[in-house]
Amino acid sequence: MRNLALHWQILIGMVAGTLLGIGLNLFFGTREVSVTQALPAGIVSAHVIDSSARTEIRYVKSSGDEVLRVLDPLSRQNDEARSVEALKSLDSVAYEIYQAHGVSLAKRVGLWCKRIGGLFLRMLQMVAVPLIVTSLTTGILGLGGSEGVGRMFRRTLIYYLTTSLLAICTGLLMVNLIRPGLGAGAPPAGVAGGDSHASSLGDVLFSQLEALIPSNPLGALVAPDFLSIIAFTIAFSLFTIRIGGTVLEHVRTAAQVGFQVMMAMTTAIIHLAPIGVFFLIAYVTATQGASVFQALAWYVIAVALGLCIHACITLPLIVKFFARRSPIEFAKAMSPALLTAFSSASSNGTLPLTMSSVETRAGISNRTGSFVLPLGATINMDGTALYEAVAVLFIAQMHHGQNLPLSQQIIVAFTALLASVGAAGIPHAGLVMMVIILQAVNLPVELQGVILAVDRVLDMARTAVNVWSDACGCAVVESLENRTTSDSAAMAGATN
Ligand code: ASP
Repeated sequence: MRNLALHWQILIGMVAGTLLGIGLNLFFGTREVSVTQALPAGIVSAHVIDSSARTEIRYVKSSGDEVLRVLDPLSRQNDEARSVEALKSLDSVAYEIYQAHGVSLAKRVGLWCKRIGGLFLRMLQMVAVPLIVTSLTTGILGLGGSEGVGRMFRRTLIYYLTTSLLAICTGLLMVNLIRPGLGAGAPPAGVAGGDSHASSLGDVLFSQLEALIPSNPLGALVAPDFLSIIAFTIAFSLFTIRIGGTVLEHVRTAAQVGFQVMMAMTTAIIHLAPIGVFFLIAYVTATQGASVFQALAWYVIAVALGLCIHACITLPLIVKFFARRSPIEFAKAMSPALLTAFSSASSNGTLPLTMSSVETRAGISNRTGSFVLPLGATINMDGTALYEAVAVLFIAQMHHGQNLPLSQQIIVAFTALLASVGAAGIPHAGLVMMVIILQAVNLPVELQGVILAVDRVLDMARTAVNVWSDACGCAVVESLENRTTSDSAAMAGATN
């Protein structure tokens, strides 16, 4: 196993984790018990049926009253609790019974897998902030001043904007062709889920602007707030260049030394990726039921197809023609990061792996990688943008029984773009930001509850696309930068 290339090792970890999770789900995914002893005070008996699709707790109080609690992720009838955690606040007695007697073995093992896989993610989180700071400082000092930084910034932003818009158009095309929400039947009002107290689009964008000026840079490091860290590090590096002399030399040496150490740590952590991916994927497959996918099959297909087209056609074409690289070779080089993004559903968490894969496996310079990737993990989310567009139009189709008119679809596209910029690179962030788009086209935010059940798996897929787009951006910007450098070298040669 150790002699295999890393991407094969990770793939094997992923397949083995999937098989373990599916096996657990199939054979130990359902638990049905009747309990009469060791129950909370005032409860005579309890009957619990727990499966990945539905949890039912029926208990009889000593007064003779019967209480039924049902947790069904797809239920459109009850607006009770939609998650086991919600049950806790709704009915602490049912929660106690469920915890003590009702949790299926698949869920118990799955949660342990999540904790063990979480150790791998914690290692990545541990190196993320020092890696970004040292790498970005080294990179900016290498760009030689604000002109170089400005040029790279412009190119990066144009790439991000273009690919996010292309992703949204692909999503809109899919949802208009497949129309997953028509025929699904309008759910009654009162479906729980979603955060109806979400802030407005203006608030979100302004808070991004505020993040660019951290009132306390050390606080930003501790939080960690990537946008603030990036903004402060760029400003710090540019002023270091302006001062120049020994200050520049000292800062450069310190950053380079720190960067070398952080890169060595990250490379060591990468080797644990097959194990981390194994546990993370086992958690997902052990605890998610297949039945929820059947109910939302057309919606899942529309999102998955859109993501596939963007990741396997649009982005590779961009890599081929603008970065002049083989997309397949590039994808192979990026596979540790892509597979980790898929299993962790966090582009921030994957960032150290993305940075080291881009530099050590794909041969892209630290100058480009350290600039394009941290920014991309924060603001460039093609997968999330596409997903938001499809999900909101799906909800609109269900609610209105017909497609949204073109003018409203344009509003969805525009707000999906901004929402993807505002979304954090953490699991389920896209779901939170979707509230803004729903409000923009006057859809009830509660309807989001319908798609909650399949969000984890779609989150995994869109996160892998987010990271893939960042990596492709690196290749494109690197190639454009190299062409600019060789053009100016040629011009300098011609004038001499
Ligand atoms: N999980 C995604 C990411 O980390 C964000 C999202 O929820 O769409 O990139």
